Amino acid sequence: MELQHREIPVEFLQRLPDGIKIVKRHGKEFMVVEQVLGPGGENLMSDAVHIHGEPSIRLGVRINGQEGLIFVDAFWGGHAKLYSFVPDLAGAAAEVDAFVPETRASLMVNRACDVDGCDCTRSIVLTLPDGKSRVYVCARFGCPGHAIEIADLPPTVSQTISSINFFGVGGSEDDWLDQF
Ligand SMILES: [Zn+2]
Repeated sequence: MELQHREIPVEFLQRLPDGIKIVKRHGKEFMVVEQVLGPGGENLMSDAVHIHGEPSIRLGVRINGQEGLIFVDAFWGGHAKLYSFVPDLAGAAAEVDAFVPETRASLMVNRACDVDGCDCTRSIVLTLPDGKSRVYVCARFGCPGHAIEIADLPPTVSQTISSINFFGVGGSEDDWLDQF
């Protein structure tokens, strides 16, 4: 499946929040998370593990009683994740509990997923440097649900950004990886 490039709203580009940057690949612009923080201002970016050429988002996670680190693709709509362990996914609807690796502060909030067919009510929350804007990632393992709430921007713009999904329905991140 071809990489699906989606237009980023001009209103957003003009008022890009700290922590989000635009990078060009193959002549197109993509949104990339550059800096996200934990609830106490902890840095969650990993310079040691790059995905698609950019620092990844490093989180501590528990899944079905196992614990380890995941490194999440910083490309908006990218779903690539690297695990420091092999998750046991016996439960088809496994949910992760994410936390700041160093302090173990919880990154979980009650927020229902926006994806049709996903009934997960918990999300991982990542805070942008302004301390007010937030990125939400569905806690359900394998669900592509993600959203952004940007302080001082109309909710409609945040919703448009949230709906950007570079894989499209049925897309495969392996296909996408091949593009880089
Ligand atoms: Zn979901």
